Amino acid sequence: MKIRIHPGAMLKEILNHVARKPATELYPFVKTEKPDKFRGKLKFYPEKCIGCKICMKDCPANAITITKVADKEFECEVRLDKCVYCGQCVLSCPKAALEMTKDFELAGLDRSKLRITYKNEGKPAPEPTTAGPDTASKK
Ligand code: SF4
Ligand code: SF4
Repeated sequence: MKIRIHPGAMLKEILNHVARKPATELYPFVKTEKPDKFRGKLKFYPEKCIGCKICMKDCPANAITITKVADKEFECEVRLDKCVYCGQCVLSCPKAALEMTKDFELAGLDRSKLRITYKNEGKPAPEPTTAGPDTASKK
């Protein structure tokens, strides 16, 4: 079979791509706005939580733990290393006490930093709390 070569067609295609904007993004140097339904790091609002633990029951990865710390007061531990970012806990929560943020840059060398405890207006505890010696807090 004879192969036909069309250098003109190839040149046209090359010039076309040289003039075109790249399809890729210059991440991490340029960061684009994430869509509204983006599923990033979980956020917990302790003032809304009623301690029903439906989020724990529905989590497919056992990544979330709700602990009662006082009367009508609950803490939430999230294992970001176990979480699969499915958003099921957010959908299941009857009080909208959980939310998925657009924060996805969570990689690190220290796995213990992916274990965070939320209390006091949705901010992680300043010191390790519910778990063992490798527990660490995060911003
Ligand atoms: S489902 Fe919502 S209200 Fe119930 S324990 Fe979980 S975070 Fe709290
Ligand atoms: S987002 Fe999914 S995997 Fe992560 S804690 Fe919620 S239910 Fe569990």
